Amino acid sequence: MFWVYTSTVGELMEITIIHKQDDAIHFLVEGIDVAFANALRRTMLTRVPAMTIDEVLVLENTSVMYDEILAHRLGLIPLVTDLESYNLPQECDCEGKGCSLCQCTLTLEKESGAEDLVVYSGDLVSQDPKIVPATNDIPLVKLAPNQRLIIEAYARLGTGAENAKFQPVSTVAHKHVPIVEVDKEKCTKCEACVDACPRKIFLIDNDTLVTQNTLDCSMCEICVQECEPEAITIASKNSAFLFRVESTGSMSPDEIVENAVENLKKRIRVTLDFVGKL
Ligand SMILES: [Zn+2]
Repeated sequence: MFWVYTSTVGELMEITIIHKQDDAIHFLVEGIDVAFANALRRTMLTRVPAMTIDEVLVLENTSVMYDEILAHRLGLIPLVTDLESYNLPQECDCEGKGCSLCQCTLTLEKESGAEDLVVYSGDLVSQDPKIVPATNDIPLVKLAPNQRLIIEAYARLGTGAENAKFQPVSTVAHKHVPIVEVDKEKCTKCEACVDACPRKIFLIDNDTLVTQNTLDCSMCEICVQECEPEAITIASKNSAFLFRVESTGSMSPDEIVENAVENLKKRIRVTLDFVGKL
């Protein structure tokens, strides 16, 4: 675990990034209540747009897989999303009919020879080099010898509120910040908690029971059950939450969080304006 930076948003909320990878981010938000934490989680799931295949034209399919199942599998491939260059269809000048500002065409043409051939997501050819599958290794269908597949697919932006295939996150979860306390006077250093804790929070250092990496604590309270003299207490902070966001690969986890915060701010402003007019 390492601390990257701390920044203050507004006056009350403080965000600290705990760990960041290409496809996941783990951060701490302080100064919010459970309703706001849940609103942020739900916004990431349902309001942040992502690009996904939404229409498929099957020109030829001699494989054993039905066209409908193939189209469904194509729709589940995460595509790298460029929110700057594309409009949501309902906000586009074409009124959702489909144009180069709200739609991207991908094609797929594969034919097996004398051997079986597995068709992968990486075989899709996109008209826009920025809109490509997030990973090339997703198997779509296995062609038996002399089978052919010719497909034209149309990708567009959408949100998780419309269909889960548009969600840019594979996981977004939050939990309370645990507070693990050891009463040194009651502790007999029996080490039962050291062995019992599945997250390895406890250790004996210089003949004293100490805690480490307490943010990893899942609050399972196995340590409390194992501890005979009741020297350990597990509690949680009411106004701080640990978030873990994992991207499908459609965009970076930072972009997802930033976009969700902007979206939430916009919706709160619209609500306040509406209430103000009543
Ligand atoms: Zn359009």
